Amino acid sequence: MRLDVLTIFPDYLAPLDLSLIGRARRDGLLDLRVHDLRDFTHDRHRTVDDTPLGGGAGMVMKPEPWAEAFASVVAAGRAELGGDAEPLVVFPNPAGAPFAQATAQAWSERPWLVLACGRYEGIDERVYEHLADAGLEVALASLGDYVLNGGEVAVLAITEAVVRLVPGVVGNAASLVEESHSDGLLEYPLYTRPATWTDPAGAVREAPAILLSGDHGKIAAWRAERSRERTAERRPDLLARREAPAAGDAPDTGHGR
Ligand code: SAM
Repeated sequence: MRLDVLTIFPDYLAPLDLSLIGRARRDGLLDLRVHDLRDFTHDRHRTVDDTPLGGGAGMVMKPEPWAEAFASVVAAGRAELGGDAEPLVVFPNPAGAPFAQATAQAWSERPWLVLACGRYEGIDERVYEHLADAGLEVALASLGDYVLNGGEVAVLAITEAVVRLVPGVVGNAASLVEESHSDGLLEYPLYTRPATWTDPAGAVREAPAILLSGDHGKIAAWRAERSRERTAERRPDLLARREAPAAGDAPDTGHGR
């Protein structure tokens, strides 16, 4: 999979050299490139922002550097990937569609994502129109109903959620199957050794005996029950959605803005 990230803070993406994502890059499963948006400016101050037309607080990202950056990154990707490779262009945006596990799954199956980090009050709206008119597929993805300072943290989260689903990135693929949100439920509680643990306050805490029984059928049934119980308690909205999915529930999987 190829990922191009556009940002005015390339150093923010340094953690993508670590852990499973770093290893995926070294193993050739992920070709991740970070581009500095300021490299696509032409003034002495490398300006990427200006005051909002119509007035108001804050600054807005100018369209010209974005258009140039996309032209360059998309042309390079097309040339290097060859064939009819086309990216999905993702803008993290609090006003976008919720980014969910289904989105991560769908995007993990794509060969190429371009992730564009907004800053300030956001990006001039005409950039989205320009990309759509140029025939690029564009998705706006929100991490949640809160506002971050910039898209970099969102890109880190999106990259981690997407790339870990690319075959070969997580060593044991089975560990992806029963996770929270993989089937619309939260994961069951987890335990490891010692089966009997005396906590620092002196309380003796036993792991559930069923997990030591060796009876895989019973363990699976126990886990399914706990999973459902936990979901009902913590996220009744997920259970309701699972039982009666509404049309508006589908996360954005990148089919148009
Ligand atoms: N003025 C914008 C609004 O009210 O919708 C918020 C802009 S925010 C300060 C700057 C950038 O942070 C956004 O362009 C986006 O890239 C990123 N961002 C902020 N909150 C986000 C969220 N919940 N999900 C994804 N990206 C977010």
